[in-house]
Amino acid sequence: MAFENVGRVWTINSFAEYLTTLERPMWCRAVVLHHTGAPCLADRPKGLLIQHMHNLQYFYQQEKGWSAGPHLFVDEDELFGMCDLTKKGIHAVSFNSLAIGIEVLGNYDAEDPLTGRGLQCWTMAAAAVKALLDWLGLPATEQTILFHRDDPTTGKKCPGSKVLKPWIIDLVTNSIGLSAVTDLAQQPDVGMAWALWDFRGEKWCVPVYDFLVAKGVKPVTIAKKLKVVAGEYFYGSELLEGAYYVKANDVIKPDQRTWAPAYEVMQLLP
Ligand SMILES: [Zn+2]
Repeated sequence: MAFENVGRVWTINSFAEYLTTLERPMWCRAVVLHHTGAPCLADRPKGLLIQHMHNLQYFYQQEKGWSAGPHLFVDEDELFGMCDLTKKGIHAVSFNSLAIGIEVLGNYDAEDPLTGRGLQCWTMAAAAVKALLDWLGLPATEQTILFHRDDPTTGKKCPGSKVLKPWIIDLVTNSIGLSAVTDLAQQPDVGMAWALWDFRGEKWCVPVYDFLVAKGVKPVTIAKKLKVVAGEYFYGSELLEGAYYVKANDVIKPDQRTWAPAYEVMQLLP
């Protein structure tokens, strides 16, 4: 059963507190921002109500036939629950498997995100994103704050052509400090900077050589085991299904250019 959180409403502070009661989902590497489009701000002069969440659940479940929907809805002063934050939702084809989906009230192809209620909604959204990233142990970057339109499978401009990525990252970075609720011990032990990760084909990938070295595997062992046979990548006898080579003119040394999905590389560790 999905739509577990329909009926729940939080302020930013109670939301941050709520997050501390949840187990951090290992599949989640980012948040995706959407706008509701319709309804727009003018359609909801008093913001969202719990009844709207029930209506939206009906829309996703009965009319679209989806088993889940976005995780959260945001208006100018509250956060409305929809789906369990620890489970995958349905909101952006390429990002469902790795990101929490947030819908911001408004139509930002037409309405202004920089003034009035639009700005209030985006300020709330930024605070929610900040709380989520702190909880997930992730920094605020282009890779962790995704827009629906970053999904190559959609032609939508969601979350609105007037909303720009650098502005949102700035808004999240400078959002009211909720870092007090962050448990630094919960940060993922990837052994390498998140800036080194790469996102391809719905999967987070890491440079195999650097990752294994960071995990304590001897470089000479890696050099011996990492090979390409008939166009397929192997580590010892393990096939690396999602592996690929980065460009030859990349800064990484030629014998260290194999990248692979993190979940595959994790399995190579002793
Ligand atoms: Zn969207």
